[in-house]
Amino acid sequence: MSSKPNLSIIIPVYNEEENILELYEKLCNTLSLPHLIEKTYEIIFIDDGSTDSTFEEIKKIKNSKVKIVRFQRNYGKAAALSCGFKRSKGDIVITLDGDLQDDPKEIPRFIEKLKKYDMVSGWKNKRQDPISKTLPSKYFNRLTRFITGVNIHDFNCGYKAYNSYVVKNINVYGELHRYIPALVYWKGYTVGEIEVEHHPRIHGNSKYGVERLLKGFLDLITVTFLMIYKKRPLHIFGGIGILLGLSGIIISVYLMVSWATGLKIGDRPLLMLGILLTVTGAQFISLGLIGELITNLRNNDDYIIKYDSYELENGR
Ligand code: UDP
Ligand code: MG
Repeated sequence: MSSKPNLSIIIPVYNEEENILELYEKLCNTLSLPHLIEKTYEIIFIDDGSTDSTFEEIKKIKNSKVKIVRFQRNYGKAAALSCGFKRSKGDIVITLDGDLQDDPKEIPRFIEKLKKYDMVSGWKNKRQDPISKTLPSKYFNRLTRFITGVNIHDFNCGYKAYNSYVVKNINVYGELHRYIPALVYWKGYTVGEIEVEHHPRIHGNSKYGVERLLKGFLDLITVTFLMIYKKRPLHIFGGIGILLGLSGIIISVYLMVSWATGLKIGDRPLLMLGILLTVTGAQFISLGLIGELITNLRNNDDYIIKYDSYELENGR
């Protein structure tokens, strides 16, 4: 059985067939640098349901330190990272994208910075992506910084490093991988940031577009909610309830007084509709938030694994 490595490198991949072997080669070059050579490592590829030959490409790598977990279908980057976190055995855990946009040569800098922080997040200051992605991302980061109070530039950079106790204590699902620094910070850990070089994507396509950005935005509401109200959900629902209840009473008194003085309530359909929509809306939001809370507390990983080299190793 393999002994505990110093370093776990987690790479979520979804249809990255042309990038796998080149990335592995670059990783090997970095890992054989004089100041890293004494470190033992494992490289964990999470194949997030690729439909191309990504899995076959990874299997070409003949190195017992390279592990593969293959998902039944595409569950998204958060699920892939979560699975990698659970499998990782290293004292230091590093995640990077599998599309060659993140350069393995930055790993030593991450490790150095990690001596001072529980977690270190990469900052793609000169991001090499089309403006249709970099511009929304800039505003998205600003908004996230404002709401979460975590003072870093780039929340969504896939390149990050953690001391292992951190990854064992966070719960990443949905689109929450965009907010990992915030989730980590709220647990009470320290979060540092280093600027990283970013390369343009040469092979394959980006999987993120407007739709995922929108989903990510909804998750900002989740994150805010989890941050403020996780311990006392009654406060938010109770608060909304009291506010709505009070408004309801005021409106009812107003309508009754108006009715008593001869006004027909039927003449005010918009008012009725307004009340109806507000109340139903608030109920739906509250229900959604309760759902989020339950999901978050359950800590469930809703993915099915098709192939797991860890299990094969252990003879299961
Ligand atoms: N990825 C994944 N599952 C997905 C989408 C993406 O594992 O559903 C991986 C992808 O293969 C890559 C990383 O996440 O290694 C970042 O994805 P991408 O390059 O598409 O994102 P971008 O850099 O454009 O934000
Ligand atoms: Mg990319």
